[in-house]
Amino acid sequence: MLTEAQRQQALGHAVALLESPTTSYFESGPLEVVRAFAAAHPGFTLEEDAYGNLIVRTPGKRRKVELAFSAHLDHPGFHYLGKRGKAHRVLLVGGVPERFLAGAPVRFHDPRTLSALATAVVGKVEKNPQGGSEAVLTEFRGRAREGMFGVFDLPNGVVRGRRLHARVCDDLMGAAAILSVLEILAAEHHPQSVAGIFTRAEETGFVGCLGLMRSGAAKNMQVIGLECSPRRTTAKPGLGPVIRAGDRMSVFDPELTLALEDAAAAVAAGAPEFRWQRALMDGGSCESTVYNAFGVRAAGACLALGNYHNCGPKGSIAPEYVDWHDYEGLIALLAQTARGLPKGAPREKIMGRLNRLWEREYKLLVDSARRIQKERKT
Ligand SMILES: [Zn+2]
Repeated sequence: MLTEAQRQQALGHAVALLESPTTSYFESGPLEVVRAFAAAHPGFTLEEDAYGNLIVRTPGKRRKVELAFSAHLDHPGFHYLGKRGKAHRVLLVGGVPERFLAGAPVRFHDPRTLSALATAVVGKVEKNPQGGSEAVLTEFRGRAREGMFGVFDLPNGVVRGRRLHARVCDDLMGAAAILSVLEILAAEHHPQSVAGIFTRAEETGFVGCLGLMRSGAAKNMQVIGLECSPRRTTAKPGLGPVIRAGDRMSVFDPELTLALEDAAAAVAAGAPEFRWQRALMDGGSCESTVYNAFGVRAAGACLALGNYHNCGPKGSIAPEYVDWHDYEGLIALLAQTARGLPKGAPREKIMGRLNRLWEREYKLLVDSARRIQKERKT
């Protein structure tokens, strides 16, 4: 599916992103990785919207309707609130059910330097008047600094067998896949420029993406939204990247989804080891729903994810995991999608197929309609 050099690059991007601590509103670590990537690649451009979302573009001709791949850079975590009485307190950020949180190990980082400042364990969790959740911390060790943020104190990433176990797969692995795809397309001098969108604050309600929509920076785009999405009985880690028919809130653009399926068939034709899945990933909602709602045509692709939002077995906090082959397959699938996509907006290929069916059958339909009508009259 990928050359050895491409596999090494895909590994490098994953390592760089997974090493960066991140949570919603504190994404400067992975944002810096994206910036460094753009700077290291001649001819690439970098655009930042008013809300700190980044758009990286490969060299090439800008289409009227640009193809873009999109991923978010945040993950559930903690905002430090300071001390009340003797207890350090945190605000919980992103969707982790409360029953998993008690006893969870947390590591705090300086928001500017990103250096680790302290570790602690989550104690009692309570609702706050704003409807959010706060927790007291136990076993606090280190220095408290105002404005620091916390992440689960889990390994950056470990590969065991084919599985990558990491503090954050969702969605740094989507972002890593985009960097790889942009690099592959630029290396083969793909004639059209392709964009990578890196959004902030998805876990708190797609807010970064909602800002992007208001900024107008993605107005003339068609977007493949990437995610790590909780595994389903119909989409499991290890069975290939998933073409995402929809999420919990909406279904995605049929023509762009078809472009992904055509690309999957093309990759499979050249690489028999390539597998892919197609499923409604309704374990969560994603930014593709936002794009479509704002009139930006969007489809979705994802990696089937285990231990979604670090919810492990028996109420424990654990690394998320994805299958490494699925990740490499996703990169191959997305690069092929860019190669296969017609210029401008996608052609109405579904209507083409429907028209061909009509051409083949309409005479039988017309003749039989006459017969049925005649039989009724006599
Ligand atoms: Zn996500």
